[in-house]
Parts: sequence; C-alpha cells; structure tokens
Amino acid sequence: MKNYKNDFPIFNQNSKDKQLVYLDSAATSQKPRAVLDAMDEYYKNYNSNVRRGLYPIAEIATQKVEEVRNQVARFINARDASEIIFVRNSTEAINLVMNTWGDMSIDMAMDDVIVATIMEHHSNFVPWQFLAQYKETAFVVIDITGEGYIDVDGMYKKIKNAKILAITHVSNVLGTINPIKEIIKKIRIVNPNITILIDGAQAVPHMKVDVQDLDCDFYVFSGHKMIAATGIGVLYGKKKLLEEMPPFLFGGEMIREVTVEQTTFANAPFKFEAGTPDIAGIISLGAAIDYLEDIGMEIVKNHEKELLEHAFSQMEKINGLTLYGPKDIKDRSGVISFNIKGVHAHDIAQVLGDMNICIRAGHHCAMPLHKHLGIVASARISVYIYNTKEDIDLFISGLKKVKEIFKV
Ligand code: PLP
Repeated sequence: MKNYKNDFPIFNQNSKDKQLVYLDSAATSQKPRAVLDAMDEYYKNYNSNVRRGLYPIAEIATQKVEEVRNQVARFINARDASEIIFVRNSTEAINLVMNTWGDMSIDMAMDDVIVATIMEHHSNFVPWQFLAQYKETAFVVIDITGEGYIDVDGMYKKIKNAKILAITHVSNVLGTINPIKEIIKKIRIVNPNITILIDGAQAVPHMKVDVQDLDCDFYVFSGHKMIAATGIGVLYGKKKLLEEMPPFLFGGEMIREVTVEQTTFANAPFKFEAGTPDIAGIISLGAAIDYLEDIGMEIVKNHEKELLEHAFSQMEKINGLTLYGPKDIKDRSGVISFNIKGVHAHDIAQVLGDMNICIRAGHHCAMPLHKHLGIVASARISVYIYNTKEDIDLFISGLKKVKEIFKV
C-alpha cells in the first residue's frame, strides 16, 4: 500500500511520538502541498477579481476559474460546463435547489409529496422537511433495512406522487454506498416526472462519479472533503432545469441588464453566482482534482477499501463493540461508525484525542438516523488516501486503551 503522507504537510510536522492519526476525513479532509501551493500562487502572483478586470492578471484569474469549471464538468462527466455552479458547500447547493426549484414548483398539487431518506445528513433532510411544511405538503421519509441499506421496495411504493427525491450517494454514518444508478432507473419508470437530487458529499471524494450515467437531475458535493479548501462546493444541475429556475442570490455578476424599472438575469451558471466567488477556493478545487486524477479514482477507492477491511476485521473481534451499516465491505465506503458497550462515544473520542488520534463522536448531523438506530450518539472513523494501515493499528490500540480505562 503506497504511503501518500509526504504530500500532506500536516503529517510532516509531528515528531514520531506525537504522530497525527487523522481519521475524520468525512468531516473535512487534509490538504496536499499541491493544493496549498496553487492557492498561494493565486494570491502571490495574480490576485484579482474575476469577470470584470481588463488587465492581464484579472484575465488569468478569470481564465483559471473557468478552466476549473470545465475540469469539474469533466471530472463528474457533466454534458456542459454551464451545468456546474460554484457554491460554498453541499449545504448551500441543496439550499439553492430547495429555494429556486422549490419556488418554481409552487404549483404543487395536494397529493404531491417531498421525499428524503432516513440516512440523510441534516443538510439533505432539514431543507426538504422545511419546504414540505412551507408548501403544506407531506414529507415522506424512506426507511432503511436492519443491515443499513435503503429499503428500495418501500421506496418505489412511496415515490409515485413525489415531486422530488433527495437521497445521499454514500451515508456519512453507515458508510452504505447506495445503488443510485439502479434506483434512479427504476424510479423514473414509476414516476417519470420526479426530480432527483443526489448528495454526493461523501461520494465524489472517494470514487468515480458520472452524473450522466446516474441520470440524476442535481448532484452536490463539497471541495473541503476532497482535499480542496473550505468554502468551495459544487452544484451540478441538468441544463434545462437550471434555465427554468429563478436566481438564488441577487446582486452583482448575475445580471444581464439592470435598469431602474427592472433587471434581466444572466444564463446559468452565472445567474446563480452572485457576488465575488471564492476564487482561491475554486483554484484549490482544480488542484485537488489534478491530484486525485494523477493517482486515479480507482486507486483512491481501492486504497480506502483495503484500510476499511483492515479496520473492520479487527474491530469485529473487539468484545462489546457494535458496528453500524452493511457487513459486506463491497457496499461500503471508508466510514465506520460504532459504539462500545458501557462507554459514551464522546469518551471514546476524548481518550483517543489525547493520543492524537482524531475521530468523530456525536450524531454526525444525522439525528433521525441515530434515533432510528436506537442510539443518541456513535463514534466514527473515516479514512482517505493519506491514511495507512499503521493509522488503523494505532486506532485499534487506542480502542484497547479505552476498554482498559473504562473497564469494559
Ligand atoms: N452531506 C453529507 C452526506 C455529509 O457528510 C456532509 C458533511 O459532513 C454534508 C452533506 C454537508 O457538507 P458541508 O458541511 O460541506 O456543506
């Protein structure tokens, strides 16, 4: 297994006895030197605003931003770069759709429903619950099976009158990789008029995603979870839908013409990008995609699978440890949530934190899912390309220490 840690400066600042074991990449990822350098280069060499300056550095910045838009389109196989909208993060992308698509669909019939699943992150749950309340229509939630898979048969029954389905590609708690392509194919037969939004926050960083192959209407993801900077995210939308949708935020750079009487708006994607964008963030996203593509998304995926297997096989043997989500590794991405009987998840994270082993504890912004599982919190590890088997071994030794301290 190749070790990529040298590419990530954060891992090179610790002495051996204080080694940083970072197992919280589902929250945010670490950044490679190539990404930090690209942002540094922008600020040092061609810092300027985009789409307005007529001088050379502004032209370079504008060109870079549009190059990254093309690069993102290629990375997720969108038909056209105009289908790529730069936003702050997945949450903002979903809120953009909720507001604008939601406005456009103001004509909801009484029996139209809005559908999400019980495994959604709050970012893909709360906006839809709110929209349903606002439109005075039903909010329908799809269940999961005992093994942590989407209840697909139940879903096909519930989506007949659905206006929209919001579903995650990969669960940030269970690690389940949902069979999105097959789900969408079947749903479109049952309900040809449905709009489908996929939350790809935990998918795009870890596997090859092809939005045309999936045939989703919207797909969202965050740069900071895929080794780019915080503050940059992506909304992909089918061109026809984006053209029909009203703008989200109003102001500079999203207009065609403004008079005292009225304003006409630019076409997508600019219609949805009011104000100065996160230029350095966009540039970091381009560098992140370059880095991931140089390795190859198949290699990224396999690297994580190997780590997952290594962790899973050892965790399964620990007495009193409950693992959540599918048992079959092939259906999972590199997220493992668990509990140890007799120890609160926060205590597990605290003891490991004292050892410089970074894991997450709590409800991971998925309270309905935790309630469904009959728990209030869980501990979670999540891996990425810079993790090694040694990280997992240190984490397992840490768990043994937790058991010793709490005498369980
Ligand atoms: N969706 C999923 C599945 C997530 O795991 C997260 C973040 O953890 C989000 C959405 C929200 O991402 P962001 O905070 O970058 O908007």
